[in-house]
Amino acid sequence: MGVDTFESWLRDLASTLHDNAAYLTELDSAIGDADHGSNMDRGFQAVVAVLDETTFAAPDEMLKKAGMTLVSKVGGASGPLYGTFFLRFGTALTGAEITPASLGEALKAGVGGILQRGKPELGDKTMYDAWAPALAAYDEAVAGGSDVHGALVAAAEAAAKGRDATVPLVARKGRASYLGERSAGHQDPGATSTTLVLESAARTLG
Ligand code: ADP
Ligand code: MG
Ligand code: MG
Repeated sequence: MGVDTFESWLRDLASTLHDNAAYLTELDSAIGDADHGSNMDRGFQAVVAVLDETTFAAPDEMLKKAGMTLVSKVGGASGPLYGTFFLRFGTALTGAEITPASLGEALKAGVGGILQRGKPELGDKTMYDAWAPALAAYDEAVAGGSDVHGALVAAAEAAAKGRDATVPLVARKGRASYLGERSAGHQDPGATSTTLVLESAARTLG
């Protein structure tokens, strides 16, 4: 797994987010400010523009640049959160031989950035409700002997379950929390985009 593999992930993810922009924005219109799809699409189109004009020597440089691009191009909650994820994920891969275990450590480092910035707890109805079960499923798959692809498939499936489980929750973080009890009955937009991130990783990495 080298630069080309990670570039194919970022490009696949950009096109997936573009295709799902209207859906993500519709989810955000129910419990937020109707911009999650356009935020993610704008951010990842900017990442694609960087990929088009830059040749990266190593995956960590490319992923860190993607993270910085998301932080600078996307306002709101999701830009800094996903931006920090990619920055920390890339940083953790610096100089590392990419193995199922080291990729899992990098994912954990990325999610550590989300925790530091957003302070989400499990059940707050945020993207962390998809990330947390995904990390656990990834580790469990690796412990059972899975390769990167198998572990990412398990992570994406767990993220999808976490995403679905956000529906009945009352939001305690982000804009949706302003709605209080009225946020229940709606799927969290960020948990939905996180599932797309991991499904794209499962398609392209490993
Ligand atoms: P904004 O809410 O600023 O308009 P977006 O609509 O792009 O930003 O993103 C909203 C998503 O961000 C939510 O669905 C939720 O998953 C995530 N989110 C919001 N606040 C937090 C937080 N403190 N920690 C983790 N995730 C959060
Ligand atoms: Mg929003
Ligand atoms: Mg907004």
